Amino acid sequence: MVIRFLQPRIQLTAVLGLVVLAQFSPARAQSETWTRSFPAFRVIGPLYGVGTYDLSVFLITSDEGHILINTGLEDSTAQIRSNIESLGFRLEDVKILLQMQSHWDHTAALAEIKQITGAQLWATSRDAPILEDGGFSDPHFGGRQTFEPVSVDKIIHEGDLIELGDIRLHVYEHPGHTEGSSSYAMTVNENGRDYQVVIANMGTINDGKHLVVDPTYPGVSEDFASTYRRQKAMDVDVWVAAHGSQYHLHDKWQPGQAYSPDTFVDPEGFVTEVEGLEKIYQEQLARERSQ
Ligand SMILES: [Zn+2]
Repeated sequence: MVIRFLQPRIQLTAVLGLVVLAQFSPARAQSETWTRSFPAFRVIGPLYGVGTYDLSVFLITSDEGHILINTGLEDSTAQIRSNIESLGFRLEDVKILLQMQSHWDHTAALAEIKQITGAQLWATSRDAPILEDGGFSDPHFGGRQTFEPVSVDKIIHEGDLIELGDIRLHVYEHPGHTEGSSSYAMTVNENGRDYQVVIANMGTINDGKHLVVDPTYPGVSEDFASTYRRQKAMDVDVWVAAHGSQYHLHDKWQPGQAYSPDTFVDPEGFVTEVEGLEKIYQEQLARERSQ
C-alpha cells in the first residue's frame, strides 16, 4: 500500500521538477503550525490551553498541583513552560501527565517533561505499551514516527475518576485513532452555572489506515463506530480537542481576547464535528468493501 502510494508521487515530481515539490509539501506546512508559538489562554475555569498554534496541550490547575494533558513535538517543552509561566503557574507543579493518543505529535516531549517535573504518567492499557516503546509498536506509524520512550506509572480505564486537589476528571476510552485513545471530562462551575467540559480525542482516520480489509489492528472499525456513537451521546457544553484546528480554536479565540466562560461553549459544533468524522468513516468502509 505504501509503495503504491509513493511511486506515482516520485514519478510526478521527477517529471515536473522542483516547482511541484514546493507545492506538494503538506508535511512541512503541517509541522509549521505544529511548532508555531501561540499564547496561553483560559478555556474555562481551571482549564487552560498551553500548547502551540495547532498542537493542543492542556493544563488543569489546582492548589495541590496540576494535570498536564499532551505535550507536542520533542522540542516543545520550552514553549509549554513559557506558556504555563505566562499564566502564573509552574511546570514543576505538574503532578499528573495524561495524553489523548499515543502519536508522536502529542507525546514526544512526555519523557522530558516527566523528568523535569517528577510527575506520574497515567495512560490507558492500550496506549501504554506504545508510550513505553516510543511508538515502535504502533500498528499504523510504528517504526516511521517514533519518540523518546516514557514509562507509564498507572493504567486508567473508562469510568475512572482522576482526583487532584479539587479537580475531578472523568476518563473516557475513545479508541480508533489509536487503540488507546482517550478523552476527559469535568464539570466546571462559573458564575453560578455548571458547564460540562470535554477534552475530546476525535475519531479521525490517518491516511493509509485500513478499517475492514486487512485492518490496521483487529477491531479498529468497531472501535471507531463505538467512539462516534458514545461521543454523540455525551453531555457537552464546552469542548476542545488534540488539535486547535479540530475544535476551531482560531475562530473561537484570538490572542488578547478577554476571558469569558462562554467563549468555547459549542454543543452543536461538537455533534456536527463527530457526525462529519463518522461520515468520512462510513465512506471509507464503503470504499474498502467495494474493492
Ligand atoms: Zn494522531
